[in-house]
This record gives sequence, C-alpha cells and structure tokens, in this order.
Amino acid sequence: MMIIDTIENECIEVFRQIDRIALINQKKVLNAFRKNRISETHFHGTTGYGYGDSGREKLSQVFADIFHTESAIVSPAISGGTHAISLCLQGVLRPGHKVLSITGKPYDTLVSSIWGNRGGSLEEYGITFECLELLSNGDCDIAKMETLIANGEYTMLYVQRSRGYDWRSPLKTEDMRQLFSIAKRLCPQIIIMVDNCYGEFVGDLEPTQVGADLVAGSLIKNPGGGIAPTGGYICGNNELIELISYKLTAPGLGMEVGSYAYGYREFFQGLFLAPHVTAQALKACVLFTVAFSNMGYMTLPKAKEYPGDIISSIQFETESELVEFCRSIQSASPIDSFVIPYPWDMPGYEHKVIMAAGAFVQGSSIELSCDAPIKSPYRAYVQGGLTYEHARIAVEECVTRILGRSAK
Ligand SMILES: *Cc1c(COP(=O)(O)O)cnc(C)c1O
Repeated sequence: MMIIDTIENECIEVFRQIDRIALINQKKVLNAFRKNRISETHFHGTTGYGYGDSGREKLSQVFADIFHTESAIVSPAISGGTHAISLCLQGVLRPGHKVLSITGKPYDTLVSSIWGNRGGSLEEYGITFECLELLSNGDCDIAKMETLIANGEYTMLYVQRSRGYDWRSPLKTEDMRQLFSIAKRLCPQIIIMVDNCYGEFVGDLEPTQVGADLVAGSLIKNPGGGIAPTGGYICGNNELIELISYKLTAPGLGMEVGSYAYGYREFFQGLFLAPHVTAQALKACVLFTVAFSNMGYMTLPKAKEYPGDIISSIQFETESELVEFCRSIQSASPIDSFVIPYPWDMPGYEHKVIMAAGAFVQGSSIELSCDAPIKSPYRAYVQGGLTYEHARIAVEECVTRILGRSAK
C-alpha cells in the first residue's frame, strides 16, 4: 500500500467529524440564503454612490444571519482581514479608551494600526492597547484578566482566535464561551472583539454565538470559499456596525453608500461553498499533521486532533529542509508551479520569510499555501486547500521529496 493510503486511513475518524461540522454549517448558510430570499437580482453591481444597492445590503444581511448578529458590513472595499480588524478598532474606540488583548500580541500586520508611527495608529489617538501574554500551556491568563477588567477601566477585550506565527493552539469556541461569560459578568459593558481569521466554519458555532460582540475576517480566507476575489467582513450589533461603517465610508453616510460595478455573484457563491471548502482545508490540515508526525516531526495540531483553524504547522530541523518543503508546496500548485520560492525580507516581518503560493486569487490562503519565517526552530505554516484531492497530491509529493532528501 502507498504511504499516503496508510496516512489517509489514520485520518478517517477526524474526517468524519469534519464532514459532520460541514453539514451543520452548510445548513446554516443555506438557511440564511433562503431567509433573505436571495435571487439573481442581488448579483448585479451598481456604480457611483451605490444608493439602494440591494446586493450589498443582502450580502451583509446573509452574513449577519450566519453569525447570529443584528448587522454586518461585507465589502470588496475592505482590502482584507487587517483592514477589517483595523476598521473595527478605529470605528469603535475613542481617545482615552483602553483595550486588553487576552491572546498576547496581535497578528504582525496589525501592529502598525495599533502602535505604528506612520500616522493614524491607535496610540497616536491616545488609545491604549495592552497585551496579556498567554500562559506557558497556551491558555489565556483568566485570573489576570479578571483582576484587570473588574474595575471597568477597559472598553474592549480583544481576542485573536487563530495563532498567527505563534506555536499555540487556536482558541476553541467552548473556551471562548467560558472566557466571555466571565468577562461580561465582571464588566457587562466591555465590548468583546474577535479576530476570526481562519476560524470561520471550523466548528459548529461562531464567536458571536458564544458571547462576542464583534467579529471580523478576510474574504480571501474561509468565508470567501476560494471564489470571492477580495474583501472583508465585520459582524456585530446595529450600534457597533454603524460606528464602524462611518470609518469605512464617512460619518452620516455609513452603509447607505458603496458600489461595486462587477457585482456580488462571487461573494454569494463563495459564501455558499465556504463550509465545504473549509472542510477540505481542514482535511488537508489533518493529512499534513499525520503525515509529518509519522515521519517524526513535531506538528500543531497534533496528529489526528480536530483542528481549531485551517493551519497546520510543521517543525523542521534545518533551514534547507524547511525551504525544500515550501518548494514542494509551490510545485504542487496549479498556478506558478514552475516558480521556485526563496526566503526574502518582507515589510512588517522581523526575519526573512519564505512563501509558497500558487493561487487563483493573489494571497488567498484558503487555497493551499505555506509560509515560514526563516528562524530556528524552523516552522512551516501550511494552510488551505480548495479540494481535498489537491491536498492529498501535495502531501504525497512533499513527503516523497522530504524523504528523498533525507535518504541522500
Ligand atoms: C490573515 C490574518 C490576519 C490578516 O488578514 P489579511 O487578510 O492578511 O490582512 C489577521 N489575523 C490573523 C489571525 C490572520 O490569520
């Protein structure tokens, strides 16, 4: 039997769980489409101010229903996850406000929005952003959070669900439920905001179903289903979404304006496919972790563990092994398979970074992709996979190349 068949056999139980969650999420999405009576009309674009753009309005309402919130902003004018999250912070917070992150320092690309000196950071507006380090076991420091927020000093609690370039497990919805209920009991007015990137449709509940007030993410990750060409989403109650919409457009205009001449078909279609595509990416994640832990590498999640997001991390022993792995991912991609990635200095990152991305949508990480900072320990972060079959082919090729290399 081929090595890959053996690996696949070990995954069957987790795959079954993944299918079960995908079914729940597919129902959730389908019901939101039906409730909002989506039809061909809503695919059409508008121009100029975009007054009465029914596609824009319906798309937002479908997202709001899926995330169980009153309102949402879903827009191709949001350039990605960083922009969506930054809009939430800039829209809701005012000078003198304090934010407490309970998942350590936020994702690298947000640092400039919070502390940057190029103009427009929270710090420049007199907004304080404090970070509670995670405990050594990767859990949130609940005790410290309790003492800090009890006196009502903080306006917002900030939570990053996925791990970015940290070696920790993503936050599970059940842990969020517990954390958020403690936070709301101690400080009922605190706004709980979750960076939901890579977490959408991974479980049967979204953070806003377990007590979060605001979620934001990217449409070139899970909820775009690999079809949305760009964009971001934000879901929350009417009051918060209105404040944020004034940042996206202008105070007073909010979500009354905003056109997209190309239309919304791809956003609706991508969202409809998203539960299934996320399941494909989750299976890819499981397959990578089982394959590489069988070969003796450390992985996150651990082999056969149900993933908390669509990322799998593999720890290699040497830089050259890491680079070889990324090159195998690139060569297994449908686009630019002939390109050889090299480590390079990227703006916003401390170390050189190597990236493998052969995607239909530039930078799309719901498509199979991989990146790694060049520093010891040598960890690759693999994510996405539009189809399980593609991921299986890629795993097989990566394993063969790495094994071939070690045999030399
Ligand atoms: C990807 C990501 C972001 C930023 O999203 P972009 O679309 O790349 O701007 C923020 N937070 C986390 C945890 C992410 O994974």
